[in-house]
Parts: sequence; structure tokens; C-alpha cells
Amino acid sequence: MVHTVCYMMTDAKNIINALPHPPKKDTDLILHAYDFAQTAHKGQFRKSGEPYFKHVYETAKNLAELRMSPTVIAAGLLHDTIEDTAVTEKDLEREFGKEIAGLVKSVTKLGTVKYKGVERNVENLRKFFISMAEDFRVLIIKLCDRLHNAQTLQYVRPDKQERIARETLEIYAPLANRLSMGKLKGELEDAAFPFAYPQAYAETKKLLAERKDAEEKHLIEFEKTLGKKLHDEGVKVIAVDRRVKHLYSLWKKLEKYDMDITRVHDIIALRVIVSNVEECYRTLGIVHGNWKPLPGRFKDYIAVPKGNGYQSLHTTVLTGTGGIVEVQIRTEEMHIVAEYGIAAHFAYKEKIKIDKLDLRKQYEWIEELRNTQKKITDNDAFFDSLKMDFFRDRVFAFTPKGDIIDLPEDASAIDFAYNVHSKIGDHAQGAKVNGKFVALDTRLRTGDIVEITVASKSHPSAKWLEFTKTSIARNHINKYLKSHSLLDTYKKFLK
Ligand code: MN
Repeated sequence: MVHTVCYMMTDAKNIINALPHPPKKDTDLILHAYDFAQTAHKGQFRKSGEPYFKHVYETAKNLAELRMSPTVIAAGLLHDTIEDTAVTEKDLEREFGKEIAGLVKSVTKLGTVKYKGVERNVENLRKFFISMAEDFRVLIIKLCDRLHNAQTLQYVRPDKQERIARETLEIYAPLANRLSMGKLKGELEDAAFPFAYPQAYAETKKLLAERKDAEEKHLIEFEKTLGKKLHDEGVKVIAVDRRVKHLYSLWKKLEKYDMDITRVHDIIALRVIVSNVEECYRTLGIVHGNWKPLPGRFKDYIAVPKGNGYQSLHTTVLTGTGGIVEVQIRTEEMHIVAEYGIAAHFAYKEKIKIDKLDLRKQYEWIEELRNTQKKITDNDAFFDSLKMDFFRDRVFAFTPKGDIIDLPEDASAIDFAYNVHSKIGDHAQGAKVNGKFVALDTRLRTGDIVEITVASKSHPSAKWLEFTKTSIARNHINKYLKSHSLLDTYKKFLK
């Protein structure tokens, strides 16, 4: 009997090869992080029985495939060292510098956020993610980390499987979508769907299998004729491909149509990639000129992009052979934005001439993207320009258990206490912020971990009103003071 030889499944080369001709200092950095992480996680194992290092390796590989910079890839290799090994932030700073240590620290911080069910705080959690990730690289590392965790769910305890799977579908995949990272979103959903909703998954899979062949039959003829017509009209087609709808989004759609798959017209869509915007509209004209479009199904996401920046023309036509097909028309640049989204902006800067044609094509798009960011020449400046300010006026602080408390700017530990529970506010005695004792009037900042100490003897004082920003805290303090008629005394005292 021949045994399969188990080669090193993790190899730094697989990561480095994803980068186009990296200079020595970049490969050195990745190799250093690779060795460091491997040593740090020595003796640790995943539920699958594989060395723990395999997980950080796969995370880094996902990052390399998204063409992240060596700094981000190194942080990906190191992302679990602070949390799960004896390595400290200081150690990382000494070995890899402030930037990488900072990235790892931020990823670790995100890891303490707990998911408490769909109903509760999902929106807050999303806000939190976005506000925390002033640096998008942290989010991208976290998403790649989650992807590998979702892809290895079969090894996780059954009761945990469902929670992680739902969290992936409710938070991480929408987040990837928000950042316009369509490819990653699809991968996250594919991995999590069977564990989050096993029955729906099985049913959807069965429905798709039954339907796919029939759909495909109509496509073959249509695709051939369309290709010919475009060629005759002189449209420079870069690629035509079929995209089969991901099972999870198919299920979401089926739910709207009483699980009637014959009402879903984009099970397999035809994607036509052409060289520029004019060609997109010309292609649309050719499609509508030759096949009857279904009314109300045409969408111009080029003139009016989706919220996450997605651009394409979508139309649905009758194939003439009894079938219905959705055609999506876009440029290469729109395609890369749809697949990689924000990651495309951070992609590894090409410095050396590349000879591989497929790679060059990819980099031209990225260059184009870069050029649209006129003044911005380096990644860091670009991050700065991207810092989100939607939630700049909010403070997101944590309980020691990882729950998020969403507060207005300049909120104090008192506000925090009342926002956790009125009893905690009413009996607050002191506060610990990030492990250090502080006064109750301490202003909080996003990311602070706040612990309130209580004592039955402690009660609100009128002075607290001077450093509360939330109405919930004010109301409770006033209520207490009124019932103890201290408020009037205080007011007189002030006069
Ligand atoms: Mn991890």
C-alpha cells in the first residue's frame, strides 16, 4: 500500500510567490515573521489536529492572494501571537517595528468583540468594526483570519459551529460586501452557510443541482451567438464568463419567491468584460437589439453605482430558446473593484517590471485605480485619506467581557456605568480603564476596556451631572437626587 507522503503543507514560498518580484527586504520580512510565528505557536494545535501555525499561515496566504503588502502579510502571520502565545506587543515591536506590532494589537482587540445573537447590536457591532478599523488593513486581516476559521468549521464543537457560522453570515460577510470585496464575501458565505442553516443549505443545493443543467443548456447557444454579434460589431471583448450564484445568496432570493427556483433568473449570469465604459453601453445595445429584455429588469449601476462602489450594467433577456438569462456588463476596472474592493487599493505596489502577462493585466487595473487617487502616492497616505469619519463623534468602549457600549464623544466612566445598567451607575464607586484605576469623571476613548467597581454604600452625587453626556445617565442621576431632594440643595448652593 502506498501512503501519500505528507509534504510541508505550509511553506513560506507559497506566500512569497503570490507577490510579483518582491525585493529582498520584503521576502526577508515575510520569512522572519514566518519563522517567528512558527516558533511562537510551537506545540499548539488546532481542533483539526493540525499545528496551530497552519491557521496563521493560511490567513497570511489569503492576504497574499489579495495582494496585500508584505507588512500586512507579516502581521497576518503574527496575528495570534499576542493573544495565544507568550509573545508581547513589546516583543513584536522590537522584532518587527511599531507598524506591524500595532496591526497585530488592533487585530487582537477586534477579537475580543463578542457576538450576542442577530437581534442584538448587530448594527452597533458593524459600526464598531468600521470605527475601530481606522486602518482598513486591520479589517482585511480579520476577514482573512475569519475566512480560514469558517473554512475549518467542521472541526469545531457542534454548539460553537452554529454561532461562528451565523456570526460569519451576519457580520463578516456583510462587512466584506460593504468593503466591496465580493470574492471574499462569497467565500465566507459558502463556508458558513452549511453550518448556520443546514436544512436550507441542503435544500438550496438540491434545487440548484436540479436546475443548473437546464439553465446551462440555454446559455451555450446564447453565449455563442452573443460572442459572434459582438465580434461583428467590433466590440473588444476582454472576457466572457459564467458566474453561478453562490448558494447563500440564492437561498436569500429563494426565500423571497417561496422557494420557487423558476422565478430566479440569475442562477447563472453571463458576465461580459469589455475595455471601457462606451463599450459597455454598446454591448448593452447589441444585447437589447438582438434579444428581448424583460421589462423592469435593467439596472444601470455604472451611472448609479451601488453604495459599496459596485458598477456594472445588468439586464435580463429572453434567450429565444425558452430560457431567460441575466447579462452583466462591466469594464476590467469595475470587475476588479467588484471582486477585491477596498483590497485592490492596498495591493502590493509593483516596482519591478513583470513579464507574466496575466499579472501585468491585473496590475494595470490597480495602477489605474491608484491614478484615480491623484495626489496619493504611498499606501500610508492613502489609509489616512480613507479613515472613516462616519462615527468620529462616537466612542465605542468595552465591558471586560467584550460587550460594546456605544457612547457620545467625551462620555465619562459614569456614562459607561449607566449604559451598562442603572444599578451599576447608581452604585458606581470607581472605575478601571484598561486595567488602571481612574476617577469616575475620566473621559473614555474608543477601544477602552472599562470595569466599574460598585459598592452598596455608593450613591450618585450632583457633581456627576457635570461630566455626563448621555441622557440615560442624567435621568438616573436626577431621579436619584430628586428622591433624596439633594438636587434643590445643590442648586441653592450654586446660587
Ligand atoms: Mn486567528
